[in-house]
Amino acid sequence: MYKLDTIISLAKRRGFVFRSSEIYGGLNGCWDYGPLGVELLRNIKEAWWKSMTYRDDIEGLDAAILMHPKTWEASGHTSQFSDPMIDNKSSKGRYRADNLIEEHIERLRRKKKTNLADEIEKSLSEVDELSDYFDIIMKYEIKDPVSGSTDWTEVRNFNLMFKTFVGPVEDTGNAVYLRPETAQGIFVNFKNVLETGRQKVPFGIAQIGKAFRNEINTKNFLFRTREFEQMEMQYFVKPGQEQKWFDYWKEQRWNWFVEYGMKPENLKWKQHDKLAHYANMAVDIEYKFPFGWGEIEGIHSRTDFDLSRHFEYSGKKMEYVDTVNKERYIPYVVETSGGVSRSLMAFLCNAYDEEVVTDDKGKSETRTVLRFHPRLAPVTVAVFPLVNKDGMPETAHKIYKGLQKEYKTAYDKGGAIGRRYRRQDEVGTPFCVTIDGQSLEDETVTIRERDSMAQQRIAIDSISTYISGKLK
Ligand code: ATP
Repeated sequence: MYKLDTIISLAKRRGFVFRSSEIYGGLNGCWDYGPLGVELLRNIKEAWWKSMTYRDDIEGLDAAILMHPKTWEASGHTSQFSDPMIDNKSSKGRYRADNLIEEHIERLRRKKKTNLADEIEKSLSEVDELSDYFDIIMKYEIKDPVSGSTDWTEVRNFNLMFKTFVGPVEDTGNAVYLRPETAQGIFVNFKNVLETGRQKVPFGIAQIGKAFRNEINTKNFLFRTREFEQMEMQYFVKPGQEQKWFDYWKEQRWNWFVEYGMKPENLKWKQHDKLAHYANMAVDIEYKFPFGWGEIEGIHSRTDFDLSRHFEYSGKKMEYVDTVNKERYIPYVVETSGGVSRSLMAFLCNAYDEEVVTDDKGKSETRTVLRFHPRLAPVTVAVFPLVNKDGMPETAHKIYKGLQKEYKTAYDKGGAIGRRYRRQDEVGTPFCVTIDGQSLEDETVTIRERDSMAQQRIAIDSISTYISGKLK
């Protein structure tokens, strides 16, 4: 397991991720995706979009970020979308009370104090009111991780939605929220999509988009940020059939991560001990990050909670009329709710590797390599002229321009060929094409694969077919 700092440092150095508004000292919980990061992000979204919507029973949607404020009353976000917050009086540190306790449990587990860790974990799972968090923190003398102080305030609720105003007047009647999840845009469009898509239950609606949460603590790089992207799909089913579809989507989503290269040993299921007010079943897919296990996607059975509430608050019937069986009902919903940026971070950690390689002359060195799935890799192919003379740059450039029409392609003419391979390995480019003296004589090149480092000679006009074959 590599350190998170090592991965963050590569991500910054090679232009995957930058701090937001870095020249002003950055803005906590916000990150910018650089030239390579944005490609990776787009490839993850594209892979998800294709697997979710290139099928008969799922339609796509791109709903507005700002929604009618009643949406959030109906969904319960205005009253319930909050986290328990606690302050340390002496250090002025501010924490999520549940996270503070969870981290304490983690520390105890690392010190092999299993019984105590189990006892506190049990108390945490039984929390009913805000004061229960406080009681646990006081009973087990949980300290401020920075100052060591145990001088805590009461635990209060903090609503995570960002509030703003539509139009020039800042009064409560004009207040709107930046959406804290994309799901509600799907629920309010249930009827529109059902009718225009001429769908029949069971069917789903998928959406990728920004979500905003005013998280109390942001940390662990892209894991918990205040602005992030989600990829969510709500699948509408006949009540009573939710178990079947819950199992189906669990399997689909697990397999999707594995298909795109996630090592199964880095993934695990986490059963929810306590269900959210809208759910009757819920599991998370967790990834083994360098800081510990963390959720990357949730699969939830949300009953008819959301559609019923929107029916109640809008007065618009959120029903499905089954004309064949002559019945009408409010569908149940099974959702898959993943984070794009959290998944990106998981894919980055999963891909990072360092290995010692030995060259033809017996010289060893450590190469850093991002072993991305070829369809996720930010750059698909890099083209190098072996030397910058004898017609090689001209041929290389022509090949580069041709490949660029189909693939994200890099051109690198600087330094020894070994150095150029290393530069591409470090950003995960799966294929490197080198044009050498022989290329000019017989129209062939060498193509080298990132993971095996094996090279083979192929005809120039078969490069594209070779790559597309590997991407399939
Ligand atoms: P957590 O318990 O970590 O706060 P959550 O259970 O509130 O997450 P959901 O509401 O189920 O998360 O959101 C679905 C997905 O959206 C999560 O699995 C995660 O990938 C992503 N996500 C949620 N909050 C954040 C955040 N603050 N930063 C980045 N991604 C997030």
